[in-house]
Amino acid sequence: MRPKKTPMRMCLGCNEMKPKKELVRVVKAPQKEEAAPPEVSLDLTGKKPGRGAYLCRDAQCLRLARKSRRLERAFSCKIPEEVYDRMEEEIQRAQQAQEEAAQAASVPRDEKGRPIIVIEEPEEALPQRRGGGSGG
Ligand SMILES: [Zn+2]
Repeated sequence: MRPKKTPMRMCLGCNEMKPKKELVRVVKAPQKEEAAPPEVSLDLTGKKPGRGAYLCRDAQCLRLARKSRRLERAFSCKIPEEVYDRMEEEIQRAQQAQEEAAQAASVPRDEKGRPIIVIEEPEEALPQRRGGGSGG
């Protein structure tokens, strides 16, 4: 029996193979002009065009990739410090959002996104009034 096939990608930070969906894509946008500076950004939706590389959803791995310059090698271009800083912020936010989402998943919410506190009803339900039409 073969396990279900999951697309795997290597994190450029820790060099570990992980399921693609657990990783964050970093994308280098296609350059319109040769002289234009390369646009490198996090692709949290996985839909941006361009060449992609993968990192764990972990700021630590981004820092490792930054230090080892693996991202720059993957894209064969220089990545400005401020781009790294911005990506680090984004990845931290994504990490937080993921943790919050995991917590929120167990809590029912109303249409405004507020958690609904479910009060368990006693077994013996109160007799309900029928009808009771208002107005008219
Ligand atoms: Zn990693």
